[in-house]
Amino acid sequence: MRDGHIHTPYCPHGTLDSFRLYIEKAIDLGYKTMTFTEHAPLPESFTDPVPLKDSGMNMADVERYISELKKLQEEYQKNLELLIGFEVDYIAGYEKETERFLNEFGPQLDDSILSVHFIEGNQQWYCIDFSPDMYEAALNDLGGNDALYRAYFKALRKSIKADLGPYKPRRIGHMTLVKKFQDLFAPPEDWEEYAFEVLESIKDSNLQLDYNGAGTQKPHCKETYPPSNIAEQASAMGIPLIYGSDAHKSTGLKQGFDKINTRIVMP
Ligand SMILES: [Zn+2]
Ligand SMILES: [Zn+2]
Repeated sequence: MRDGHIHTPYCPHGTLDSFRLYIEKAIDLGYKTMTFTEHAPLPESFTDPVPLKDSGMNMADVERYISELKKLQEEYQKNLELLIGFEVDYIAGYEKETERFLNEFGPQLDDSILSVHFIEGNQQWYCIDFSPDMYEAALNDLGGNDALYRAYFKALRKSIKADLGPYKPRRIGHMTLVKKFQDLFAPPEDWEEYAFEVLESIKDSNLQLDYNGAGTQKPHCKETYPPSNIAEQASAMGIPLIYGSDAHKSTGLKQGFDKINTRIVMP
């Protein structure tokens, strides 16, 4: 049992559940490997579009985040393999700042994720998974849901190709996050074609895919990121799939795992 996408008490929009609470729960659940992937601090020159500006952790806490995890890694080495990482945002146009962060801390990291949460409209940036209202604002700004899907998958393809230096994360996070509110805003008919293009890119670049259970718990999504047919296609192409709970509280560990096709996840 491996979980490659877990948040922590350092998440400003998560819970204060301690590292130990997560780890003890993971051991109870039979985890063999777990990666803590806190949201990396956003680039300093980027303005977080969410009202509380709490999408990423504080830069001032990064050293402590890593050093605490290093201690726990040792302490629990007999129980499970604990890996240290970040969920790093890909924000188009901010590659240099992202690379600087990765170059500074990358040597201390084991396993990280690269995700797209932010899309630029004509008026402003949007965090597309923040709320239905922000999603709708992005959709209106871009000229419809089809345009938003195209922009999202284009950003994903750019993230896969982006030069972020030698410590660029090797795994692409929740590649269908744009479907989080799909019951409210129906996906364009040909959205799967966009997703398949992303898989081609991932394959070309030798990256892994986060097979994320969190969407199953979202009332307007109710499926994994990506859904099973896309995951099966990825697996058939030889792309490694790593289950991710995307837990923001200790009780979120293993969420959605019952909806994961366990025959195709990496142990
Ligand atoms: Zn989060
Ligand atoms: Zn995420």
